[in-house]
Amino acid sequence: MRRGTDRPDSWFTGWRLWRLPHRVRAYVLTVNVVAVAVSVGTAWLAPVRHQDLVRFGVLAVCAVAAIEATRRIERQREYNRAPTVAYVDTKAVWSIAAVIALPAVLASAMVVLTYAVAWWRIWPRERPVLPHRWIFSAATVLCGTQAAVLVLSLGLHHYPGIPASGFGPGLGDLAVIALAAVLRWAINTVLVMVAIGLSSSPRSISELFSGFGDQILEAGAIGLGLVTATLLVLANPLVLVGVVVALVALHRGLLLTQFQRDARTDVTTGLATKRWWRTIAEQYLERARAGHGTVGVLLLDLDHFKAINDTYGHPTGDLVLREIAIALRDEVREQDVCGRWGGEEFAIVVPNVPSMEHLGLLADRIRRRVPRVAVVLPDRDTVISEVTVSIGCAVYPAEHLTGVDDVLVATDTALYRAKQAGRNRVELATG
Ligand code: GH3
Ligand code: MG
Ligand code: MG
Repeated sequence: MRRGTDRPDSWFTGWRLWRLPHRVRAYVLTVNVVAVAVSVGTAWLAPVRHQDLVRFGVLAVCAVAAIEATRRIERQREYNRAPTVAYVDTKAVWSIAAVIALPAVLASAMVVLTYAVAWWRIWPRERPVLPHRWIFSAATVLCGTQAAVLVLSLGLHHYPGIPASGFGPGLGDLAVIALAAVLRWAINTVLVMVAIGLSSSPRSISELFSGFGDQILEAGAIGLGLVTATLLVLANPLVLVGVVVALVALHRGLLLTQFQRDARTDVTTGLATKRWWRTIAEQYLERARAGHGTVGVLLLDLDHFKAINDTYGHPTGDLVLREIAIALRDEVREQDVCGRWGGEEFAIVVPNVPSMEHLGLLADRIRRRVPRVAVVLPDRDTVISEVTVSIGCAVYPAEHLTGVDDVLVATDTALYRAKQAGRNRVELATG
């Protein structure tokens, strides 16, 4: 199944870019080339003066300091991001400030600098040979930046520079800056969304936009970028320390929210953590007790999963777990909660299940779905599929079941019987 040729990859042929599907690769390369071409094209729009270089230096120091102070948080955000969600951060503050206050060539340089520093400092140790994703991200921002440059150079009273004084001209300049920033964001976002759509085939448009709430960060970055540009031109550069402090403090707030989310979401699979699953299961049981409803619980254990780890390695095993988790969520209703119970064990709580037979049918549907999950390895020749699962089921209320612990013991006993009976089976708890 593995590639026949064991020829070691050279520096050039080892780039992950070459292993992307053909249409994604063509798209990424096209965007990169266009980004370079338009950046060179706008570079001649305004001359670079000595003062611009000094301001660029001040901005660069602030940008590097802010990236450095927030890199742990950003690393966490980048790790936890679903593959179908565009990554947004606050680096834009510095490149927005640069595009307003500095000549185009320095605005482009600020994009390149912030992306290079962020890649170098945020990316974990297993940095790929060619950070083609970061280069592509920088390229999309460069394309958006040049569009912003065009709008600003045509519309601003003083380009490059801050809004003119006086209410009328100032308002006009603000409108031009807002238009430029929106255009920059829209071009960047559309280019990234197309790449995500081409490479990970999201199941729906809504999935593609599932992390869209993060885009609000971009609006914050635009606002702060305008303030930064104004301070850069009008005030003592030391004042920019205030912007760096504000940015880092805002990140702290963001991290807290992230940690709260982490406590509920398992990083590997995206399912509920054991603790959070249990909290929800207890709530469902409580509601069933009060309203005489029912709750079904499934406990799943993948069969011979150790063999997958032994053959392909633990990280690949994690990929398989993630894909199976996605399939599980796909098979159940919105109110049914899937959790990661342990290593390769999952728990599903199903409120208002009509009967044990219904729960058994759901379990059997899941049992037949799991082997159809296919994981294609990066070499594109190896496909892992036909992983089977054993499932134990129990329904509350039933005799001897007083709480979540009892229900779990009952499902665990049923699961044990499924394993004993040869695996790839569903067993129902007996009273
Ligand atoms: P069976 O359940 O059919 O008896 O066999 P099994 O090989 O699946 O054995 P068991 O249920 O005891 O599974 C434990 C294996 O699951 C050991 C380990 O290799 C794997 N595993 C546990 N946690 C993780 C994890 O977080 N990631 C990966 N990749 N593998 C894990
Ligand atoms: Mg197990
Ligand atoms: Mg197992």
